[in-house]
Amino acid sequence: MRDDPGPRVTWMRQQVGGVTWVRAEGLRLRLLDFLRADGLTLPWRVVYLRPSRFEDANLRAHELVHIEQIDRDGSLTFSLRYVWWLVRHGYDGNPYEIEAYDRVPGWPGRRARLGRSKNLMR
Ligand SMILES: [Zn+2]
Repeated sequence: MRDDPGPRVTWMRQQVGGVTWVRAEGLRLRLLDFLRADGLTLPWRVVYLRPSRFEDANLRAHELVHIEQIDRDGSLTFSLRYVWWLVRHGYDGNPYEIEAYDRVPGWPGRRARLGRSKNLMR
C-alpha cells in the first residue's frame, strides 16, 4: 500500500476532490466536437475537457454543478432526466443546464461561444 499520493496529476488527468478531469484527446475530443461542447461530465465523476479550455475556471465550475446534480439526484436519475430534458427542452432549456449556467454568474458559456468557436476552430 502506498502512502497518500495527494492529488494525482498527469498531462491527461487530474484527480481533485473525487473528480477526475480528463484532457480530451482522440475519440474523446471527437465526442466533444460532435456535441459542440467544451466539457462533458460523465455520471461516474469523470469530466472531459477540451484541451484549450482545460484550465478554464468557469467551465470547471459549470461542470462541478453537474457533479453536484449527480450527487443530489443519483447518477441513474440524473442520466435519464438529462437525456429526457435534452430531448424535450433542448440544450438551452434543459433545467440541469439552466441551473449550471445560473450558478456561474457572469459567464456567457456555450451559447455566446458557439458563433465564435466556428471561427476559432481549426
Ligand atoms: Zn452543462
